[in-house]
Amino acid sequence: MNFLDLTFNMQLTYQPFELELKHTFTIAKFSRSSTPLMLVQLHHDGFTGYGEASMVPYMGESYASATAFLQQVDVSRFTYPFDFEAILDYLDEIAPGQPAIKAAIDIALNDLNGKLKQQPCWQLLGSDPVQMPVTSFTVGIASPDVMVQKLKDAKGFKVVKVKLGSSDDKGLINTIRSVTDVPLYVDANQGWNDCEQALDLVYWLHEQGIKLIEQPFSKTDPDSNAWLTERSPIPIIGDEAVQRLPDVAKAKGIYHGINIKLMKSAGMFEAKRMIDEANKLGLKIMIGCMSETSCATLAAAALAPQCHWADLDGPFLTVNNPYKMPDFLDGRWVLNNGFGLGLSLTESVSK
Ligand code: MG
Repeated sequence: MNFLDLTFNMQLTYQPFELELKHTFTIAKFSRSSTPLMLVQLHHDGFTGYGEASMVPYMGESYASATAFLQQVDVSRFTYPFDFEAILDYLDEIAPGQPAIKAAIDIALNDLNGKLKQQPCWQLLGSDPVQMPVTSFTVGIASPDVMVQKLKDAKGFKVVKVKLGSSDDKGLINTIRSVTDVPLYVDANQGWNDCEQALDLVYWLHEQGIKLIEQPFSKTDPDSNAWLTERSPIPIIGDEAVQRLPDVAKAKGIYHGINIKLMKSAGMFEAKRMIDEANKLGLKIMIGCMSETSCATLAAAALAPQCHWADLDGPFLTVNNPYKMPDFLDGRWVLNNGFGLGLSLTESVSK
């Protein structure tokens, strides 16, 4: 179909799903052992587009808020071919915020669009699979013996990402360095407070082979983040400070780069616009994830070849992924030629 079909008829279905984590996950400010997801499907003419919202508690979304939002969505307004911008504007009119449930709809639309067009999403978005960056594997804050156990799970990964912001960040890095010499990313999750202390730590981290640092200071403290960015020999990446498109321009001069996540950007359409905007502004780009299944991981992987760094380890950190694991080779996700996201269902997930 390549005409405006005013009779286009779609149905929306959704189910809550509790995604269990392999290890209790601790970052600078929070700890949890599972994540509520809302699995969303859009059905048309025998085709189904799959999407999901990963609603990590600190982002403020929940089963209740997602259900209330979805009940207000009138999918009869989604004509074909999809006008992704108009649809996102419509979703933003329903309610501000709530980017994860908006992402669920956008991802399902992209999957359905690829299936109707008989093309992979990565191709429709202009990605070259050969440019796929390696994906890092994230290790949360834990006792040294648990950290060592988690690092054993990281075999096959070319980069490990470590959550800092504990009382002994150097000790954590030393523990990791006693087990592996892989390149490391570190994520302070806004946990640092003192500029001079942070700069000392950054120089030390540089000597330990750390390749980038995420969100050192509070997202509401641009001055400290900018001060460190100006002096740091390692790229400083804004994550919590960068949610949607208008935040990209604000990151210029404060961070070297931005961490785009579909659950913050309200999906793939706006993430692609953020990538283009960051490139225009000379900002480096990382694409990251929340606790996600193969579905949202493939959605982000479709854009990852357009980014400098990928942190898409969701399916490796969970135990009840309801979909098949996508192919992963040499530390990278492999984009397949399946139409849409290229998501493979298991028998437990019906078509
Ligand atoms: Mg982060």
